[in-house]
Amino acid sequence: MNFTKKLSKNWRIAENAFFVFAFGFVMYNLATTYWHYIHGSEKSKGFISAVTMSMANHEYYVSVVFVMVIINTTLVSGEILWFITRLLKQEKGKTKGWDRYKQAFNEMSVSYKSSFLAMLIHQLLPKLVLINMFWIWAPYFQKFALFTISLTWYNWIYAYICWELSSWIFHYSCHRVRLLWCIHAPHHAPSNINMAVNWVHFFAEGYYSSFVHLLILTLLGVNPLMFIVVMAIDSAWGVFVHVSEDSLKNGQMGFLQHLVITPAHHRVHHAKNPLYIDTNFASALPIWDWIFGTLQPFKKEVKAEYGVTRELDVTNFTDLYFGEIYLLWRDVKDTGGLKNKLLYIIMPPGWTPSSTDKTAAALRECFLKTNPELGLTSRNKVLKIINNALKADKPKVEETAPVFVQNEG
Ligand SMILES: [Zn+2]
Ligand SMILES: [Zn+2]
Repeated sequence: MNFTKKLSKNWRIAENAFFVFAFGFVMYNLATTYWHYIHGSEKSKGFISAVTMSMANHEYYVSVVFVMVIINTTLVSGEILWFITRLLKQEKGKTKGWDRYKQAFNEMSVSYKSSFLAMLIHQLLPKLVLINMFWIWAPYFQKFALFTISLTWYNWIYAYICWELSSWIFHYSCHRVRLLWCIHAPHHAPSNINMAVNWVHFFAEGYYSSFVHLLILTLLGVNPLMFIVVMAIDSAWGVFVHVSEDSLKNGQMGFLQHLVITPAHHRVHHAKNPLYIDTNFASALPIWDWIFGTLQPFKKEVKAEYGVTRELDVTNFTDLYFGEIYLLWRDVKDTGGLKNKLLYIIMPPGWTPSSTDKTAAALRECFLKTNPELGLTSRNKVLKIINNALKADKPKVEETAPVFVQNEG
């Protein structure tokens, strides 16, 4: 039976009430925080002193994280204010009275309900259940570091490339292992993309992310101070690449698209079209996507359709947040044999014991058979040049060898 239908109408009403509460709570907090900083800064307190005090105590990462949090919240709240202003303007001519507000609320629900409710859970659950594993694990992982790099400028570039590698591995595994997809899928469920989508994460995803990043970065010699700074920069970029199409229409950023992950790249990642599905896993630099062959530029021929491939009402937060876990549990329960049950957990989403046709890789491969030119990147050109060079280098005797063997047989 459909998960959506199982939920009672009353629960949906409660969800909306939570959304209104979360929205009011976040807006109130933002307003008072800004007031505090603006007011405090005049007397050298608040924002300025919070940054300078931690700088003076040599806690540079505190200053960096602090500034990044301010940048992130400013970006998100600015976009929300822009969204609301536009929405009310649009509705003014269309609907009147109570219906106007009802319509505005419905549209808000589609675009922002999941973000605010996920953030509410994120604020509550990690603090109640496990606090933040990153801070607890960091010193423990450091004990196993084989070496640690110094803070010279070129090592910062090395640290960023290592961070990108761990981000790629984390993100790729989330898309290719069904159990991990359960904790990553809420981020992909919204049918609109905007900066607040950056908040939509299953609360446990952060623990897995911390584990993968700490493990890889520690092994590669990156020290905790470096990855705190890199993480802060990455999180600010992470907010920006979710910018809505209304705020930044094309998002390809001209020549920069060859050097960094742009909003257009990340829109492709959030799209469910067969061409775009399971591509662009990188955070800020497209290096590892390029190397591993998962880079997919935006193509004007294929308009991005956001969301997940299954049927989902995005205003149903319970389904959006827990639906994948329920569906996995149902598949495991209904299949026979321990091997198939285990395979359901570790194989990619869409896999069944009888077919792999519905996996993202199969859908993309099938699409590219008829439209191969849409999936081409500079990587294909480089591989072609290497292949041709290898063919040219091969001695002639090798080419005739199989014919000789065939004749013998
Ligand atoms: Zn993803
Ligand atoms: Zn995203």
